[in-house]
Amino acid sequence: MLYVSQHPLVRQKVTLLRDERTPPKVFRELVRELAMLLCYEATQNLELVSETVRTPMGTARGERLRLRIGLVPVLRAGLGMVEGALEMIPTAQVWHIGLYRDERTLRPVTYYNKLPDQASVQLSIVLDPMLATGGSATATVDLLKRWGSPRIKYLGLIAAPEGLERLSTAHPDVDVHLGCVDERLNEIGYIVPGLGDAGDRQFGT
Ligand code: URA
Repeated sequence: MLYVSQHPLVRQKVTLLRDERTPPKVFRELVRELAMLLCYEATQNLELVSETVRTPMGTARGERLRLRIGLVPVLRAGLGMVEGALEMIPTAQVWHIGLYRDERTLRPVTYYNKLPDQASVQLSIVLDPMLATGGSATATVDLLKRWGSPRIKYLGLIAAPEGLERLSTAHPDVDVHLGCVDERLNEIGYIVPGLGDAGDRQFGT
């Protein structure tokens, strides 16, 4: 399922993020805050189990999350989303994935993957700000499925229709949570109007 946030805070923060005058420090804060807000929306259907706790005044019946959750930032731009998502789900494991695009074959190549042999989480949440061609998003989900992750969600800030189509055709079972869907990709694979290079804008490069 596709979920494009309509929340006013998300819409305002995406606008600020796009603005070319936004400096890296503010850009990083916005990425972190958007990751928190999208994570909050993306986890609203998670299953709970009952748990009883003692308060200073007695006992209270409550709940905790049922699933073991992994956050999967796609290097490099996904790094900026980790902190916000971890604030929402402090018990999550974090598994980094590095992909680059081979300029000859135009296919994503994995250059960093330290996933253990067996899937250690029951829900993986991919953190990848820009869903552009969909190549690395689809490759990341392929990799997580081969790893044995039974359930996967994708969190992105801005998507191009082309990338969205590619990811949802390849993986219709993956819930996709976005801040916004833009007009198109340009001839060099950037989202228009987008925000430019999300890695460069976070890290001042
Ligand atoms: N990656 C980015 O950082 N920006 C785009 O527009 C596309 C891919």
